[in-house]
Amino acid sequence: MDFTEEQIHRYARHILLPEVGGEGQATLLAAKVLVIGAGGLGSPLILYLAAAGVGTIGVVDDDEVELSNLQRQVLHQTDRVGMAKVESAARTVAAINPDVTLVPHRLRLTEENARDLIGQYDLVADGSDNFTTRFLVNDAARAEGKTLVSAAVLRFEGQISTFKLGGPCYRCLHGDDISDADAPNCGQAGVFGAMAGVMGSLQAMEVLKEILGIGDTLSGSLLLVDGLSTAFRKVRLSRDPGCSCCGGS
Ligand SMILES: [Zn+2]
Repeated sequence: MDFTEEQIHRYARHILLPEVGGEGQATLLAAKVLVIGAGGLGSPLILYLAAAGVGTIGVVDDDEVELSNLQRQVLHQTDRVGMAKVESAARTVAAINPDVTLVPHRLRLTEENARDLIGQYDLVADGSDNFTTRFLVNDAARAEGKTLVSAAVLRFEGQISTFKLGGPCYRCLHGDDISDADAPNCGQAGVFGAMAGVMGSLQAMEVLKEILGIGDTLSGSLLLVDGLSTAFRKVRLSRDPGCSCCGGS
C-alpha cells in the first residue's frame, strides 16, 4: 500500500476497521462508480463516496441547480442556482477530497450511450427520478455485467435493492408495463428532504459494501423504509423467469 502521510490520516478510521483496512482502502481508491442523478439521492451518495475515497466517481445529470432542489440536494448550494449539477458536484467533491476524480457526464442516458458509459465503470448506482431512465440503466448494467445499486424515494417512503448477475433485476421487480404516467414523481407528490438523505446514505453503504465485498448483499432483497413510522422491512425478491431483461439467463 503506497499511502501518503495525509492519506493515512484521512482514512485512519477506515483503516482501523478489520473489514476495510489498508487493503480495502486501496480498493476504494482504485474503484470507479457511476452515479445516475446528482439530486436528492445522488447528493448524500456522492458526498459519502467522495469522503470514503472512491477514486473515480462518474456523475450523469443534464440538469441545472434550482432553488427548489436545495431542500434536499445537499451537494449543491444557494450561490450555484443555475449552474450545471455536474459542475456543482465536481466543486463540492474537490473541496471534500482531492484524492477523488469526479467525471462529469452532462447528458441524458439513451439507448445509444447507456451501455458504453456504464461499461466504463465497476458499478452503477441509480438515483434517477423516472422509470424510463431506471429501465435503461437496469438493462445496460445487466448487459455489461455490472452490479446496480438502485434506490428510490417519495414523500416519506423509500426503497432500495441491489441487482447483480445471478439475482433478480429491476424488471423482475416492476415488470415492463410501469411507466412515468403511472407513478407520481417528487415534483408532483413532494419528498421529505431528510428521507432522501436516509435513502441516499443507505445507497452509499451498499455501494461501498459491494466494492469491498463485505457484509450481506441486498441482491435478492428489497428494503422498504417508512420514514414516518421509522420502520425498515426487508422482503425477498425473486427472479422472474419471464423477465424481458434477465429471464432464462
Ligand atoms: Zn429480470
